[in-house]
Amino acid sequence: VKILWNDQFVKEEDVKIGFEDRGYQFGDGIYEVIKIYNGDMFTATEHIDRLYASADKIQLVIPYTKDVMHKMLYDLIEMNELKDGQIYLQVTRGTSMRQHNFPVPAVESVLTAYTKETVRPLSQLENGVKACFVEDVRWLRCDIKSLNLLGNVLAKQEAISKDCYEAVLHRGETITEGSSSNMYGIKDGVLYTHPVSNLILNGITRQVILSCCEEIGLSVVEEAFTKSQALEMDEMIMSSTNAEVMPVISIDGQLIGNGKRGEWAEKIQVAFEKRIPSSVKI
Ligand code: PLP
Repeated sequence: VKILWNDQFVKEEDVKIGFEDRGYQFGDGIYEVIKIYNGDMFTATEHIDRLYASADKIQLVIPYTKDVMHKMLYDLIEMNELKDGQIYLQVTRGTSMRQHNFPVPAVESVLTAYTKETVRPLSQLENGVKACFVEDVRWLRCDIKSLNLLGNVLAKQEAISKDCYEAVLHRGETITEGSSSNMYGIKDGVLYTHPVSNLILNGITRQVILSCCEEIGLSVVEEAFTKSQALEMDEMIMSSTNAEVMPVISIDGQLIGNGKRGEWAEKIQVAFEKRIPSSVKI
C-alpha cells in the first residue's frame, strides 16, 4: 500500500508527521474525499477545484498545480490498484513551533493522500435511512472544507447514538445541511435545498444532483426550508460523495411521506447512476 506524502509515494510506515503539525494541533488545513468507481475518479476536477478554493480561503498555498495534483492522485490509484473506493486527501499549513498565527517565515504545507476500498451503501440507497434534528452550532465558514470538524463530529455522534444515519442540522428553525452531507426536501414536484452560502458546504454531489433534476424535469428552488416544513415534505434526501443520493425516510422518528424511498428520489438515483464511470451497477 502506497501513501502520497507531499510529492512522494511511500509506504505507510515511512510517513513522518510532526507532532507540531498545524493540522494536528489546530485543525489548520483542508481536505477532500473523492470517490473511485471502476478505477476512475468521479468529478475529480470539481473536487480539486474545491480543494484549491478552500486553500485560498484560509491563505494556504498548495505548492503543486492542479494538473500535477490530478496526476499524482491518478498515480496513487494505479499504484494501489484501487477499483472501487475513495481517496482521502488533506493539506495542512505545515509543521512549526506552536503559535496560533501563521509560521514566520512560512513553512511548506504537508499533503497526505491515501486510498481505501469502500462498498456502495446499496441497501440504504434502496430503503432509505433515519435521521434526527441536531442544532447546527458550527462556525460561520462552513463553505470551507476545513479539517476542523468537531461540530460535525459531535452532531454525527448524536445521530449514531440515536440509531440514526445522519443529523439534520438546523440554525434555529432553518435547516442548513447534514453533519457530512447536503439536505433536500421535495414537495409537490419541487426540490428545495439551502442556497450556497457560508452556512453550507457546496457539495459536489449536490451540484451533480441539481443537474440531474434539470435532466428529469424536477424543478429546483435553492431556498432554505424549516424543520416543520421538512416534516411535511413528500420526500427528503441527503447527499455526499459516499452516501450518493440517499433517501431520508424519517426524522426524530416521524415518517417523511410514506416512510419509503420516494419516486423522485429513485429518479434522481437513476440519473445519477448514469453519470458515474459506467460498468458499475447499482
Ligand atoms: N456538507 C458537509 C458538512 C460535508 O462534510 C459533506 C461531505 O462530506 C457534504 C456536505 C457533501 O459534499 P460532497 O457531495 O462534495 O461530498
